[in-house]
Amino acid sequence: MHKLGLLVVGVMWVLMGWHGVAVAQSGAMDRIDAIQLLSENDNQQALEQLQAMGATLDAATPYAVRREYLDALITVQVDAAKMEAAQATIAALSKLAQDNRDDIGVVLATSKSASIMALSGKTDAAIAQLISIEATALRTADAHALWRFYLTLGSAQLTVGRFEAAQESALKSLQYAKERAAHAQTSHLRSLNLLGNVYMAMLNWNKALEVIDDALVVVDAVGSSKLKGTLYLNQGAAFASLGRAKESVAAYEKALKIGGESGMVGLQGTALNNIGDSYLISKDYPKAEVFSRQAMVKFKEAGELGGVATAQSNIGFALMGQGRIHEGVAEVRAAIRLSQEMGAKTDQEGILGELGRMYEQAGLYREAVATIREQQVLTEQLFRADREKSVATLQAQFDAVQRQKQIELLARENSLKDAEISNRRLQQIITLLGAVVTVMAGIFVFLLYRRVRKTNLKLREANKQLEFHAVRDPLTGLYNRRSFFELMKGRTSNANGTRREDEIPDGLMILDIDHFKNINDTLGHAGGDAVLVEISKRLRATVRDTDMVMRWGGEEFLIFSPKANAAHLKSLAQRVLHAIGATPIAVGDRMMPITVTGGFLSLPFSGLSEVDCNWEKAMQIADMALYLGKVNGRNRAYGLNRLLAPFELVMPVLERDITAALKANMVELVEVIGPVADAQTVEPPLENAG
Ligand code: GH3
Ligand code: MG
Ligand code: MG
Repeated sequence: MHKLGLLVVGVMWVLMGWHGVAVAQSGAMDRIDAIQLLSENDNQQALEQLQAMGATLDAATPYAVRREYLDALITVQVDAAKMEAAQATIAALSKLAQDNRDDIGVVLATSKSASIMALSGKTDAAIAQLISIEATALRTADAHALWRFYLTLGSAQLTVGRFEAAQESALKSLQYAKERAAHAQTSHLRSLNLLGNVYMAMLNWNKALEVIDDALVVVDAVGSSKLKGTLYLNQGAAFASLGRAKESVAAYEKALKIGGESGMVGLQGTALNNIGDSYLISKDYPKAEVFSRQAMVKFKEAGELGGVATAQSNIGFALMGQGRIHEGVAEVRAAIRLSQEMGAKTDQEGILGELGRMYEQAGLYREAVATIREQQVLTEQLFRADREKSVATLQAQFDAVQRQKQIELLARENSLKDAEISNRRLQQIITLLGAVVTVMAGIFVFLLYRRVRKTNLKLREANKQLEFHAVRDPLTGLYNRRSFFELMKGRTSNANGTRREDEIPDGLMILDIDHFKNINDTLGHAGGDAVLVEISKRLRATVRDTDMVMRWGGEEFLIFSPKANAAHLKSLAQRVLHAIGATPIAVGDRMMPITVTGGFLSLPFSGLSEVDCNWEKAMQIADMALYLGKVNGRNRAYGLNRLLAPFELVMPVLERDITAALKANMVELVEVIGPVADAQTVEPPLENAG
């Protein structure tokens, strides 16, 4: 995950591969060898000593010594970054070797030239040049030349990501190193370095650890603290990659200690940075911050800007891990700017990748995608610009594929999140709409209910009215004609046999107001109505509760009195005539003397079956009696008690002319005379007459 620490180490590894080794054949050879060992710890000192030694060399100096000297000088010059001087020395070595027809010298010079070429980024050209002299190198059968050749070739192959070839070359160089009697240890160490580096690049951490263990055994014999520190850094990195965090930190701490002891500030910076890095991996962000800050101080002190950028970016990631996103991003961006200023696009690209992952970890997918895109652009630039340069092609391609996948994943995650958000929003809208619809429906139902209730009330009222009007007369409130028909309906149908002989019959009395036309004429129609209302009141007050008073027509009334014998009917007639006629009716400020005329009889009539004389016929006879009352002077009532002749004889006469029937003595008639309006003594009412 955190490859930045490794990147710093990797550069160191590569540089270390180029430290030259010489074969000592004599005192001069021993001297050169000693200087080379010195260069391990103090390159500047070594360079000065070699330059001083060069002044003592001349044409008399043995070829082997001069070759060894030039070879060592090239290494030290390269390490001192004096490339032009190194190129010149290479040219000198090359000429010397050719002059002496020495393939070993040619191989050594060509290897050095190739190594510089690789350092300057022309790795493929370097490999091509090396391959062109492989046969020559093999022909020399010289362990030193072959060791140097394969070490150089392996390093170059490693740089371009040809790991298997690099591994093969490293193993060959290791084999030749062991054959070298004099410098076995140093060469052995270099080859182990290269091999370890190859395994690291192949992500074969266990193999790398094995090789590092071997190298650590050898390194003490050589006495290179710089190399030892670097070995521990690599060991820490390998452990870290295997997830062995504690061992990783322990290894880095060893490197840190060595750095402190030997005053190698850059090594301390790298060790501190890598410790911080492992805390980043284990997500112990506060500790990661502490170590990264210490590393930055060391890198600044050593003037290693690349290290500063790495440490600063790690500080940023540590802050982001602690939730201080803005602060962290600011640090990371500063680190990216620094890398940019240095032209360290690879570092920049690495930091961007890490930033993307931190964004992702923080759940900031949009920013993560943007950052990884930024990184991708940079990666493409890197590859377009110098494909053959330092970054391992395969690894980078692998990374690119990984990143593409990551972007797709993130984009998917992002769109999922977006979908989730819009889904949630939609759900909210639906819920809201549901609520609104529910409320609206509620209101609607409530309004509807209210309306229905109102309508129901109105309907009930209307029904009551209808019901009332169906049976009642609207003006007087009396039962109407229809209600009487309803009452009589069942009567005719079950008239036979249901009624017993001894049962008391019902009474029917029909009444008609006298000279009502005159009343209307005098009082107006409304006055007439008022009179009708008053008469209705008086009638109702006069009859029994069980009696039914009806408005039969315009100014005609009907009283149905259940179970009323002849005496009771006569009494009822007397009371009715008295109730109406005794007291004048007040209409407005006028007192109107009003009288009525009536006719009454029993139903069934005179013991006849209601089949023979139904209620309609009985009513007709009562009407005839009323008519008789009108004719005889009004304000009176006539009742027909019974027939005095056979029904068949009487009925045709009676229906046609009651007077004729009376004259023929066919019926028994009762006469009730009404009161005189202002003289109540004439005909006093008979209460409960029987
Ligand atoms: P009689 O004594 O012979 O009965 O004389 P009358 O004037 O009462 O004659 P009749 O019974 O034939 O007349 C009925 C009159 O009653 C006719 C009509 O103008 C009046 N009338 C009928 N219904 C109403 C009503 O609802 N209100 C009013 N004000 N007058 C009515
Ligand atoms: Mg009339
Ligand atoms: Mg009348």
